[in-house]
Amino acid sequence: MASPRESVTAYVALGANLGDARQAVNTALGAFNALPGTRLTKASSLYRTAPVDSSGPDYINAVAEVSTLLTAPNLLLALQQIEHLAGRERPYLNAPRTLDLDLLLFGAATIDSPHLTVPHPRMWDRAFVLVPLAEIAPSLVPHAALAAVQDQSIQRNLSTG
Ligand code: ADP
Ligand code: MG
Repeated sequence: MASPRESVTAYVALGANLGDARQAVNTALGAFNALPGTRLTKASSLYRTAPVDSSGPDYINAVAEVSTLLTAPNLLLALQQIEHLAGRERPYLNAPRTLDLDLLLFGAATIDSPHLTVPHPRMWDRAFVLVPLAEIAPSLVPHAALAAVQDQSIQRNLSTG
């Protein structure tokens, strides 16, 4: 008899800088609970950051913790569907976006496939990922990692909901 799959704790970075970015992030947080076998277990505050390697208005960023029975590739597909529903288009690399959902961590998994790299390869360079991640999962973010991005401006002033 096949044993039931264990749920995995995963972390997802949310970012938006077009349209009603705050609304897009809050809607995406709600959408995680509608994914099969998936629950939103923690959400950081919303943060406001200037675009990095991108353009347009400031970003609204957050990080979510989910508990999921999905595999990592299926979770990525589900995240891309949520991006699509939010009207995400990819006219060019690093274009402004209505919603970007990046899979940061998937339990302790290391994944290096053409469509999915976990841990997310750029997460340690980005204050807009590390600061909200440290808010909800401080043990995952060493002080040295936060110190390394402290020159990047990030403003925590928004609550979710
Ligand atoms: P970015 O988030 O880097 O600005 P996109 O959201 O357009 O750019 O993603 C580009 C591609 O990155 C996606 O098609 C996806 O297959 C790939 N990708 C690889 N690893 C990850 C990950 N950990 N999370 C999200 N997307 C990833
Ligand atoms: Mg992305």
